[in-house]
Amino acid sequence: MADVEAYIKDLKETITQRDPNQPEFQEAAFTVLDSLKPVLKKHPEYIKANILGSLVEPERAIQFRVPWQDDEGNFHVNRGFRVQFNSAIGPYKGGLRLHPSVNLSIIKFLGFEQILKNSLTGLLIGGGKGGSDFDPKGKSDSEIMRFCQSFMTELQKHIGPDLDVPAGDIGVGGREIGYLYGQYKRLNGSQNGILTGKGLEYGGSLARTEATGFGLIYYLNALIKGQGDQLKNKTIKVSGAGNVAIYAIQKAQENGAKVVTVSDSNGYIYDENGIDVDVVKQIKEVERGRIKEYADKVKTATYSEGSVWDLDIKYDIALPCATQNEIDEDQAKLIAKDGAKYLAEGANMPSTTEAIAVYKENGIVYGPAKAANAGGVAVSALEMSQNSERLAWTFDDVDSQLKDIMENIYEKSAAADKEYDLGQDYQAGANIAGFEKVAKAMLAQGLV
Ligand code: NDP
Repeated sequence: MADVEAYIKDLKETITQRDPNQPEFQEAAFTVLDSLKPVLKKHPEYIKANILGSLVEPERAIQFRVPWQDDEGNFHVNRGFRVQFNSAIGPYKGGLRLHPSVNLSIIKFLGFEQILKNSLTGLLIGGGKGGSDFDPKGKSDSEIMRFCQSFMTELQKHIGPDLDVPAGDIGVGGREIGYLYGQYKRLNGSQNGILTGKGLEYGGSLARTEATGFGLIYYLNALIKGQGDQLKNKTIKVSGAGNVAIYAIQKAQENGAKVVTVSDSNGYIYDENGIDVDVVKQIKEVERGRIKEYADKVKTATYSEGSVWDLDIKYDIALPCATQNEIDEDQAKLIAKDGAKYLAEGANMPSTTEAIAVYKENGIVYGPAKAANAGGVAVSALEMSQNSERLAWTFDDVDSQLKDIMENIYEKSAAADKEYDLGQDYQAGANIAGFEKVAKAMLAQGLV
Protein backbone atom coordinates (compact mmCIF):
# COMPACT_ATOMS: atom_id res chain seq x y z
CA MET A 1 0.00 0.00 0.00
CA ALA A 2 3.00 2.29 0.59
CA ASP A 3 3.53 2.85 -3.15
CA VAL A 4 -0.13 3.68 -3.58
CA GLU A 5 -0.01 6.24 -0.76
CA ALA A 6 3.13 7.85 -2.21
CA TYR A 7 1.62 7.92 -5.72
CA ILE A 8 -1.56 9.64 -4.55
CA LYS A 9 0.37 12.08 -2.38
CA ASP A 10 2.55 13.01 -5.38
CA LEU A 11 -0.47 13.53 -7.59
CA LYS A 12 -2.14 15.78 -5.03
CA GLU A 13 1.02 17.86 -4.74
CA THR A 14 1.22 18.21 -8.53
CA ILE A 15 -2.41 19.34 -8.69
CA THR A 16 -1.91 21.85 -5.88
CA GLN A 17 1.25 23.24 -7.46
CA ARG A 18 -0.22 23.45 -10.96
CA ASP A 19 -3.54 24.93 -9.95
CA PRO A 20 -3.23 26.52 -6.52
CA ASN A 21 -6.30 28.69 -7.13
CA GLN A 22 -8.72 25.90 -7.98
CA PRO A 23 -10.23 24.80 -4.63
CA GLU A 24 -13.36 23.21 -6.10
CA PHE A 25 -11.35 21.17 -8.58
CA GLN A 26 -8.89 20.11 -5.88
CA GLU A 27 -11.76 19.03 -3.60
CA ALA A 28 -13.36 16.90 -6.31
CA ALA A 29 -10.08 15.39 -7.52
CA PHE A 30 -8.71 14.60 -4.05
CA THR A 31 -11.92 12.83 -3.02
CA VAL A 32 -11.77 10.60 -6.09
CA LEU A 33 -8.04 9.94 -5.75
CA ASP A 34 -8.45 8.84 -2.13
CA SER A 35 -11.31 6.53 -2.92
CA LEU A 36 -9.39 4.80 -5.73
CA LYS A 37 -6.58 3.59 -3.46
CA PRO A 38 -8.01 0.05 -3.09
CA VAL A 39 -8.25 -0.28 -6.89
CA LEU A 40 -4.65 0.80 -7.35
CA LYS A 41 -3.56 -1.74 -4.80
CA LYS A 42 -5.22 -4.48 -6.84
CA HIS A 43 -4.17 -3.08 -10.23
CA PRO A 44 -0.57 -1.82 -10.15
CA GLU A 45 -0.73 -1.48 -13.94
CA TYR A 46 -2.77 1.70 -13.44
CA ILE A 47 0.07 3.24 -11.44
CA LYS A 48 2.65 2.04 -13.97
CA ALA A 49 0.74 3.74 -16.78
CA ASN A 50 0.08 6.82 -14.59
CA ILE A 51 -3.59 6.62 -15.51
CA LEU A 52 -4.59 8.92 -12.67
CA GLY A 53 -2.07 11.53 -13.80
CA SER A 54 -3.92 11.63 -17.13
CA LEU A 55 -7.34 11.45 -15.51
CA VAL A 56 -6.86 14.65 -13.48
CA GLU A 57 -5.56 16.68 -16.43
CA PRO A 58 -8.17 17.80 -18.99
CA GLU A 59 -7.48 16.81 -22.58
CA ARG A 60 -8.30 20.44 -23.41
CA ALA A 61 -9.49 23.58 -21.56
CA ILE A 62 -10.86 26.31 -23.79
CA GLN A 63 -11.46 29.84 -22.51
CA PHE A 64 -12.96 32.61 -24.62
CA ARG A 65 -14.40 36.10 -24.67
CA VAL A 66 -18.18 36.57 -24.94
CA PRO A 67 -19.15 40.14 -25.88
CA TRP A 68 -22.87 41.01 -25.89
CA GLN A 69 -25.14 44.04 -25.92
CA ASP A 70 -27.90 44.77 -23.38
CA ASP A 71 -31.30 46.30 -24.20
CA GLU A 72 -30.01 49.82 -23.47
CA GLY A 73 -27.23 49.42 -26.00
CA ASN A 74 -24.40 48.95 -23.45
CA PHE A 75 -21.66 46.44 -24.30
CA HIS A 76 -20.57 43.76 -21.81
CA VAL A 77 -17.86 41.14 -21.93
CA ASN A 78 -18.14 37.81 -20.13
CA ARG A 79 -15.81 34.86 -20.00
CA GLY A 80 -16.77 31.53 -21.61
CA PHE A 81 -15.33 28.07 -20.90
CA ARG A 82 -15.45 24.56 -22.30
CA VAL A 83 -13.35 21.91 -20.59
CA GLN A 84 -13.04 18.71 -22.63
CA PHE A 85 -11.85 16.46 -19.87
CA ASN A 86 -11.81 12.88 -21.05
CA SER A 87 -12.95 11.13 -24.24
CA ALA A 88 -11.79 7.58 -23.42
CA ILE A 89 -15.28 6.08 -23.67
CA GLY A 90 -17.10 8.53 -25.97
CA PRO A 91 -17.64 12.13 -27.07
CA TYR A 92 -17.31 14.75 -24.33
CA LYS A 93 -20.68 15.24 -22.67
CA GLY A 94 -21.69 17.65 -19.94
CA GLY A 95 -23.73 20.78 -19.37
CA LEU A 96 -23.21 24.50 -19.75
CA ARG A 97 -23.62 26.63 -16.61
CA LEU A 98 -24.47 30.32 -16.62
CA HIS A 99 -23.85 31.81 -13.18
CA PRO A 100 -21.68 34.68 -11.90
CA SER A 101 -19.64 32.24 -9.78
CA VAL A 102 -18.41 30.32 -12.84
CA ASN A 103 -14.64 30.14 -13.23
CA LEU A 104 -12.13 27.57 -14.47
CA SER A 105 -11.98 25.79 -11.11
CA ILE A 106 -15.74 25.21 -11.03
CA ILE A 107 -15.89 24.08 -14.65
CA LYS A 108 -12.95 21.72 -14.10
CA PHE A 109 -14.52 20.20 -10.99
CA LEU A 110 -17.77 19.65 -12.85
CA GLY A 111 -16.03 18.24 -15.92
CA PHE A 112 -13.93 15.92 -13.80
CA GLU A 113 -16.98 14.59 -11.94
CA GLN A 114 -18.69 14.10 -15.27
CA ILE A 115 -16.10 11.53 -16.44
CA LEU A 116 -16.97 8.93 -13.83
CA LYS A 117 -20.66 9.86 -13.72
CA ASN A 118 -21.00 9.32 -17.46
CA SER A 119 -19.14 6.04 -17.21
CA LEU A 120 -21.52 4.87 -14.47
CA THR A 121 -24.53 5.32 -16.77
CA GLY A 122 -23.17 2.48 -18.91
CA LEU A 123 -23.56 4.68 -22.02
CA LEU A 124 -20.75 5.70 -24.34
CA ILE A 125 -20.08 9.27 -23.28
CA GLY A 126 -16.90 11.01 -22.14
CA GLY A 127 -16.66 13.90 -19.67
CA GLY A 128 -16.81 17.65 -20.29
CA LYS A 129 -18.39 20.82 -18.93
CA GLY A 130 -18.67 24.48 -19.87
CA GLY A 131 -20.32 27.76 -19.09
CA SER A 132 -19.85 31.42 -18.41
CA ASP A 133 -19.81 33.94 -15.54
CA PHE A 134 -22.79 35.65 -17.23
CA ASP A 135 -25.70 36.17 -14.79
CA PRO A 136 -29.02 35.37 -16.50
CA LYS A 137 -31.06 36.67 -13.55
CA GLY A 138 -33.11 39.74 -14.43
CA LYS A 139 -32.12 39.68 -18.11
CA SER A 140 -34.73 40.03 -20.85
CA ASP A 141 -35.34 37.28 -23.41
CA SER A 142 -33.55 39.42 -26.02
CA GLU A 143 -30.50 39.85 -23.81
CA ILE A 144 -30.38 36.10 -23.13
CA MET A 145 -30.67 35.47 -26.88
CA ARG A 146 -27.86 37.86 -27.76
CA PHE A 147 -25.61 36.39 -25.07
CA CYS A 148 -26.29 32.80 -26.19
CA GLN A 149 -25.64 33.70 -29.83
CA SER A 150 -22.32 35.30 -28.97
CA PHE A 151 -21.34 32.37 -26.73
CA MET A 152 -22.12 29.83 -29.45
CA THR A 153 -20.31 31.86 -32.12
CA GLU A 154 -17.08 30.81 -30.41
CA LEU A 155 -18.13 27.48 -28.88
CA GLN A 156 -19.22 26.03 -32.24
CA LYS A 157 -15.58 25.89 -33.34
CA HIS A 158 -14.87 23.29 -30.67
CA ILE A 159 -17.91 20.97 -30.59
CA GLY A 160 -19.46 18.35 -32.88
CA PRO A 161 -21.94 15.45 -32.76
CA ASP A 162 -19.15 12.86 -32.44
CA LEU A 163 -16.79 15.17 -30.58
CA ASP A 164 -18.53 17.16 -27.85
CA VAL A 165 -22.27 17.52 -27.19
CA PRO A 166 -23.11 20.09 -24.47
CA ALA A 167 -26.40 20.32 -22.53
CA GLY A 168 -27.97 22.52 -19.82
CA ASP A 169 -27.01 23.08 -16.19
CA ILE A 170 -27.62 25.94 -13.73
CA GLY A 171 -29.03 28.90 -15.67
CA VAL A 172 -29.35 26.95 -18.93
CA GLY A 173 -32.79 25.47 -19.62
CA GLY A 174 -34.94 25.00 -22.71
CA ARG A 175 -34.93 28.69 -23.68
CA GLU A 176 -31.13 28.97 -23.66
CA ILE A 177 -30.61 25.64 -25.44
CA GLY A 178 -32.98 26.87 -28.17
CA TYR A 179 -31.01 30.07 -28.73
CA LEU A 180 -27.69 28.20 -28.66
CA TYR A 181 -28.94 25.55 -31.09
CA GLY A 182 -30.33 28.15 -33.50
CA GLN A 183 -27.01 29.94 -33.63
CA TYR A 184 -25.08 26.69 -34.15
CA LYS A 185 -27.34 25.83 -37.07
CA ARG A 186 -27.05 29.31 -38.56
CA LEU A 187 -23.27 29.02 -38.55
CA ASN A 188 -22.96 25.36 -39.59
CA GLY A 189 -26.10 24.72 -41.59
CA SER A 190 -26.50 21.24 -40.19
CA GLN A 191 -29.19 19.52 -38.12
CA ASN A 192 -26.99 17.17 -36.18
CA GLY A 193 -28.31 17.27 -32.63
CA ILE A 194 -25.26 19.13 -31.37
CA LEU A 195 -26.91 19.99 -28.03
CA THR A 196 -29.19 17.96 -25.77
CA GLY A 197 -32.10 19.29 -23.77
CA LYS A 198 -33.60 20.61 -27.00
CA GLY A 199 -37.29 21.43 -27.44
CA LEU A 200 -39.50 18.50 -28.46
CA GLU A 201 -40.30 20.27 -31.76
CA TYR A 202 -36.67 20.16 -32.94
CA GLY A 203 -35.09 16.95 -31.69
CA GLY A 204 -35.43 16.98 -27.90
CA SER A 205 -36.19 13.81 -25.98
CA LEU A 206 -39.32 13.26 -23.97
CA ALA A 207 -38.44 12.96 -20.25
CA ARG A 208 -35.18 14.98 -20.55
CA THR A 209 -36.69 17.83 -18.51
CA GLU A 210 -37.72 15.42 -15.76
CA ALA A 211 -34.67 13.16 -16.01
CA THR A 212 -32.33 14.39 -13.28
CA GLY A 213 -35.06 14.80 -10.65
CA PHE A 214 -36.86 11.57 -11.55
CA GLY A 215 -33.52 9.75 -11.78
CA LEU A 216 -32.56 10.99 -8.31
CA ILE A 217 -35.69 9.41 -6.87
CA TYR A 218 -35.18 6.13 -8.80
CA TYR A 219 -31.65 5.97 -7.35
CA LEU A 220 -32.92 6.93 -3.86
CA ASN A 221 -35.53 4.20 -4.04
CA ALA A 222 -32.86 1.61 -4.84
CA LEU A 223 -30.61 2.94 -2.06
CA ILE A 224 -33.42 2.75 0.51
CA LYS A 225 -34.53 -0.69 -0.65
CA GLY A 226 -30.94 -1.85 -0.23
CA GLN A 227 -31.40 -1.03 3.47
CA GLY A 228 -34.63 -3.04 3.63
CA ASP A 229 -36.61 0.21 3.95
CA GLN A 230 -39.07 2.11 1.71
CA LEU A 231 -39.63 5.65 0.46
CA LYS A 232 -43.37 5.70 1.17
CA ASN A 233 -44.39 7.97 4.09
CA LYS A 234 -40.91 9.44 4.50
CA THR A 235 -40.52 13.18 5.13
CA ILE A 236 -38.01 14.90 2.84
CA LYS A 237 -36.12 18.19 2.89
CA VAL A 238 -35.26 19.45 -0.62
CA SER A 239 -33.07 22.46 -1.42
CA GLY A 240 -33.26 24.38 -4.68
CA ALA A 241 -36.26 25.23 -6.80
CA GLY A 242 -34.81 24.61 -10.23
CA ASN A 243 -35.05 21.84 -12.76
CA VAL A 244 -33.61 19.12 -10.53
CA ALA A 245 -35.52 20.09 -7.37
CA ILE A 246 -38.90 20.39 -9.10
CA TYR A 247 -38.91 16.93 -10.69
CA ALA A 248 -37.39 15.30 -7.61
CA ILE A 249 -40.27 16.72 -5.55
CA GLN A 250 -42.83 15.50 -8.09
CA LYS A 251 -41.47 11.95 -8.27
CA ALA A 252 -40.93 11.68 -4.50
CA GLN A 253 -44.56 12.64 -3.92
CA GLU A 254 -45.73 10.16 -6.57
CA ASN A 255 -43.92 7.56 -4.46
CA GLY A 256 -45.89 8.50 -1.36
CA ALA A 257 -43.23 10.62 0.38
CA LYS A 258 -43.84 14.14 1.73
CA VAL A 259 -41.48 16.99 0.71
CA VAL A 260 -41.68 19.89 3.17
CA THR A 261 -39.15 22.43 1.86
CA VAL A 262 -38.01 24.13 -1.34
CA SER A 263 -35.48 26.98 -1.60
CA ASP A 264 -33.44 29.39 -3.72
CA SER A 265 -30.27 31.38 -3.05
CA ASN A 266 -32.20 33.94 -0.97
CA GLY A 267 -34.30 31.75 1.31
CA TYR A 268 -36.60 28.78 1.75
CA ILE A 269 -40.23 27.73 2.01
CA TYR A 270 -41.37 25.35 4.74
CA ASP A 271 -44.79 23.72 4.76
CA GLU A 272 -45.35 20.76 7.07
CA ASN A 273 -48.34 19.75 4.92
CA GLY A 274 -46.11 19.20 1.91
CA ILE A 275 -44.98 21.35 -1.03
CA ASP A 276 -47.42 21.80 -3.93
CA VAL A 277 -45.13 21.17 -6.90
CA ASP A 278 -47.57 22.75 -9.37
CA VAL A 279 -47.24 26.06 -7.55
CA VAL A 280 -43.44 25.79 -7.67
CA LYS A 281 -43.61 25.06 -11.42
CA GLN A 282 -45.89 28.06 -11.97
CA ILE A 283 -43.50 30.39 -10.13
CA LYS A 284 -40.22 29.05 -11.53
CA GLU A 285 -41.05 27.73 -15.01
CA VAL A 286 -43.85 30.08 -16.08
CA GLU A 287 -43.41 33.34 -14.14
CA ARG A 288 -39.60 33.01 -13.63
CA GLY A 289 -40.15 34.44 -10.13
CA ARG A 290 -38.53 33.94 -6.71
CA ILE A 291 -39.44 31.18 -4.31
CA LYS A 292 -40.67 33.58 -1.62
CA GLU A 293 -43.72 34.18 -3.83
CA TYR A 294 -44.82 30.64 -2.90
CA ALA A 295 -45.85 31.89 0.57
CA ASP A 296 -48.19 34.46 -1.06
CA LYS A 297 -49.90 31.68 -2.99
CA VAL A 298 -50.05 28.93 -0.32
CA LYS A 299 -51.26 30.14 3.07
CA THR A 300 -49.93 27.22 5.15
CA ALA A 301 -46.36 27.88 3.94
CA THR A 302 -43.79 30.16 5.57
CA TYR A 303 -40.82 31.87 3.91
CA SER A 304 -37.53 32.56 5.72
CA GLU A 305 -34.31 34.13 4.50
CA GLY A 306 -31.13 32.03 4.65
CA SER A 307 -30.19 28.41 4.06
CA VAL A 308 -32.74 25.63 4.31
CA TRP A 309 -29.97 23.53 5.91
CA ASP A 310 -30.20 25.75 9.02
CA LEU A 311 -33.89 24.92 9.50
CA ASP A 312 -34.24 22.62 12.53
CA ILE A 313 -37.09 20.13 11.92
CA LYS A 314 -37.44 16.35 12.14
CA TYR A 315 -37.25 14.53 8.81
CA ASP A 316 -35.98 11.32 7.19
CA ILE A 317 -34.26 12.18 3.91
CA ALA A 318 -32.16 15.13 2.70
CA LEU A 319 -32.02 15.91 -1.03
CA PRO A 320 -29.69 18.84 -1.77
CA CYS A 321 -30.61 20.01 -5.30
CA ALA A 322 -29.21 23.58 -5.49
CA THR A 323 -25.46 24.01 -5.90
CA GLN A 324 -21.94 23.02 -4.82
CA ASN A 325 -20.86 23.23 -1.17
CA GLU A 326 -24.31 24.22 0.06
CA ILE A 327 -23.97 21.96 3.14
CA ASP A 328 -21.06 22.59 5.51
CA GLU A 329 -19.92 20.63 8.55
CA ASP A 330 -22.27 22.31 11.05
CA GLN A 331 -25.24 21.93 8.73
CA ALA A 332 -24.36 18.26 8.29
CA LYS A 333 -24.37 17.89 12.08
CA LEU A 334 -27.86 19.40 12.13
CA ILE A 335 -28.98 16.94 9.43
CA ALA A 336 -27.80 14.09 11.67
CA LYS A 337 -29.37 15.62 14.80
CA ASP A 338 -32.68 16.08 12.99
CA GLY A 339 -32.80 12.35 12.38
CA ALA A 340 -32.20 12.11 8.61
CA LYS A 341 -31.19 8.56 7.70
CA TYR A 342 -30.55 9.07 3.99
CA LEU A 343 -28.96 11.81 1.89
CA ALA A 344 -28.83 11.70 -1.90
CA GLU A 345 -27.30 14.51 -3.92
CA GLY A 346 -29.28 16.04 -6.79
CA ALA A 347 -26.82 18.92 -7.14
CA ASN A 348 -23.16 18.46 -8.00
CA MET A 349 -20.89 18.32 -4.92
CA PRO A 350 -23.44 20.01 -2.60
CA SER A 351 -21.68 18.61 0.49
CA THR A 352 -18.26 19.80 1.63
CA THR A 353 -15.66 17.14 2.43
CA GLU A 354 -16.21 17.84 6.14
CA ALA A 355 -19.98 17.42 5.73
CA ILE A 356 -19.51 14.01 4.10
CA ALA A 357 -17.33 12.92 7.01
CA VAL A 358 -20.20 13.85 9.36
CA TYR A 359 -22.66 11.75 7.32
CA LYS A 360 -20.33 8.77 7.56
CA GLU A 361 -19.70 9.20 11.32
CA ASN A 362 -23.44 9.32 11.95
CA GLY A 363 -24.39 6.37 9.76
CA ILE A 364 -26.37 8.47 7.28
CA VAL A 365 -26.66 6.39 4.10
CA TYR A 366 -25.08 8.68 1.53
CA GLY A 367 -25.77 8.68 -2.24
CA PRO A 368 -23.11 10.85 -3.95
CA ALA A 369 -23.91 13.21 -6.84
CA LYS A 370 -22.13 11.33 -9.57
CA ALA A 371 -24.38 8.35 -8.94
CA ALA A 372 -27.58 10.03 -7.75
CA ASN A 373 -27.87 12.78 -10.37
CA ALA A 374 -26.64 10.86 -13.42
CA GLY A 375 -30.18 10.64 -14.81
CA GLY A 376 -29.89 13.95 -16.67
CA VAL A 377 -26.83 13.02 -18.65
CA ALA A 378 -28.16 9.50 -19.19
CA VAL A 379 -31.28 10.81 -20.92
CA SER A 380 -29.12 13.32 -22.80
CA ALA A 381 -27.24 10.34 -24.22
CA LEU A 382 -30.58 8.74 -25.10
CA GLU A 383 -31.47 11.99 -26.88
CA MET A 384 -28.25 11.64 -28.91
CA SER A 385 -29.27 8.10 -29.87
CA GLN A 386 -32.72 9.25 -30.98
CA ASN A 387 -31.21 12.10 -33.02
CA SER A 388 -28.81 9.69 -34.73
CA GLU A 389 -31.59 7.36 -35.78
CA ARG A 390 -34.00 10.27 -36.52
CA LEU A 391 -36.65 8.79 -34.26
CA ALA A 392 -38.45 9.96 -31.14
CA TRP A 393 -39.10 7.42 -28.40
CA THR A 394 -42.17 7.60 -26.15
CA PHE A 395 -42.03 9.13 -22.67
CA ASP A 396 -42.58 5.74 -21.06
CA ASP A 397 -39.80 4.15 -23.11
CA VAL A 398 -37.26 6.82 -22.10
CA ASP A 399 -38.49 6.87 -18.50
CA SER A 400 -38.22 3.10 -18.11
CA GLN A 401 -34.68 3.12 -19.56
CA LEU A 402 -33.84 5.90 -17.09
CA LYS A 403 -35.18 3.85 -14.20
CA ASP A 404 -33.10 0.83 -15.26
CA ILE A 405 -29.97 2.96 -15.60
CA MET A 406 -30.39 4.51 -12.13
CA GLU A 407 -31.05 1.15 -10.48
CA ASN A 408 -27.99 -0.23 -12.25
CA ILE A 409 -25.85 2.62 -10.98
CA TYR A 410 -26.86 1.77 -7.43
CA GLU A 411 -26.19 -1.93 -8.06
CA LYS A 412 -22.73 -1.24 -9.55
CA SER A 413 -21.77 1.06 -6.67
CA ALA A 414 -23.02 -1.47 -4.12
CA ALA A 415 -21.12 -4.28 -5.89
CA ALA A 416 -17.86 -2.28 -5.80
CA ASP A 417 -18.52 -1.46 -2.14
CA LYS A 418 -18.82 -5.18 -1.48
CA GLU A 419 -15.88 -6.25 -3.67
CA TYR A 420 -13.49 -3.83 -1.98
CA ASP A 421 -15.03 -4.23 1.46
CA LEU A 422 -15.68 -0.50 1.86
CA GLY A 423 -18.29 -0.74 4.63
CA GLN A 424 -21.35 0.76 2.86
CA ASP A 425 -19.37 3.56 1.24
CA TYR A 426 -21.42 4.20 -1.90
CA GLN A 427 -19.33 7.26 -2.72
CA ALA A 428 -16.13 5.24 -3.04
CA GLY A 429 -18.19 2.45 -4.65
CA ALA A 430 -19.43 4.84 -7.36
CA ASN A 431 -15.96 6.27 -7.96
CA ILE A 432 -14.48 2.80 -8.33
CA ALA A 433 -17.26 1.46 -10.56
CA GLY A 434 -17.06 4.53 -12.84
CA PHE A 435 -13.26 4.54 -12.89
CA GLU A 436 -12.60 0.95 -13.86
CA LYS A 437 -14.28 1.24 -17.26
CA VAL A 438 -12.53 4.53 -18.07
CA ALA A 439 -9.14 3.20 -16.93
CA LYS A 440 -9.46 0.08 -19.07
CA ALA A 441 -10.46 2.18 -22.10
CA MET A 442 -7.55 4.56 -21.56
CA LEU A 443 -5.07 1.70 -21.30
CA ALA A 444 -6.49 -0.08 -24.34
CA GLN A 445 -6.18 3.04 -26.49
CA GLY A 446 -2.69 3.90 -25.38
CA LEU A 447 -4.00 7.14 -23.88
CA VAL A 448 -1.47 7.26 -21.11
P1 NDP B 1 -31.46 25.57 -11.98
O1 NDP B 1 -30.75 26.78 -12.48
O2 NDP B 1 -32.70 25.10 -12.66
O3 NDP B 1 -31.78 25.73 -10.43
C1 NDP B 1 -30.77 25.95 -9.49
C2 NDP B 1 -31.43 26.14 -8.15
O4 NDP B 1 -30.41 26.21 -7.15
C3 NDP B 1 -32.19 27.46 -8.06
O5 NDP B 1 -33.26 27.32 -7.18
C4 NDP B 1 -31.12 28.39 -7.49
O6 NDP B 1 -31.64 29.53 -6.81
C5 NDP B 1 -30.44 27.48 -6.51
N1 NDP B 1 -29.08 27.98 -6.27
C6 NDP B 1 -28.14 28.28 -7.18
N2 NDP B 1 -27.04 28.77 -6.58
C7 NDP B 1 -27.31 28.76 -5.27
C8 NDP B 1 -26.58 29.13 -4.12
N3 NDP B 1 -25.34 29.64 -4.21
N4 NDP B 1 -27.18 28.98 -2.90
C9 NDP B 1 -28.44 28.47 -2.80
N5 NDP B 1 -29.18 28.11 -3.85
C10 NDP B 1 -28.62 28.25 -5.06
O7 NDP B 1 -30.34 24.41 -11.99
P2 NDP B 1 -30.55 22.84 -11.97
O8 NDP B 1 -31.73 22.49 -11.14
O9 NDP B 1 -30.44 22.36 -13.35
O10 NDP B 1 -29.20 22.39 -11.24
C11 NDP B 1 -29.10 22.28 -9.82
C12 NDP B 1 -27.89 21.43 -9.49
O11 NDP B 1 -28.04 20.14 -10.09
C13 NDP B 1 -26.55 21.96 -9.98
O12 NDP B 1 -25.54 21.58 -9.07
C14 NDP B 1 -26.35 21.19 -11.29
O13 NDP B 1 -24.98 21.11 -11.65
C15 NDP B 1 -26.91 19.85 -10.91
N6 NDP B 1 -27.30 19.02 -12.02
C16 NDP B 1 -28.22 19.40 -12.93
C17 NDP B 1 -28.60 18.57 -13.96
C18 NDP B 1 -29.68 18.91 -14.91
O14 NDP B 1 -30.05 18.04 -15.72
N7 NDP B 1 -30.26 20.09 -14.85
C19 NDP B 1 -27.93 17.27 -14.16
C20 NDP B 1 -27.03 16.90 -13.10
C21 NDP B 1 -26.71 17.76 -12.10
P3 NDP B 1 -31.50 30.99 -7.49
O15 NDP B 1 -32.61 31.07 -8.48
O16 NDP B 1 -31.64 31.92 -6.35
O17 NDP B 1 -30.12 31.06 -8.12
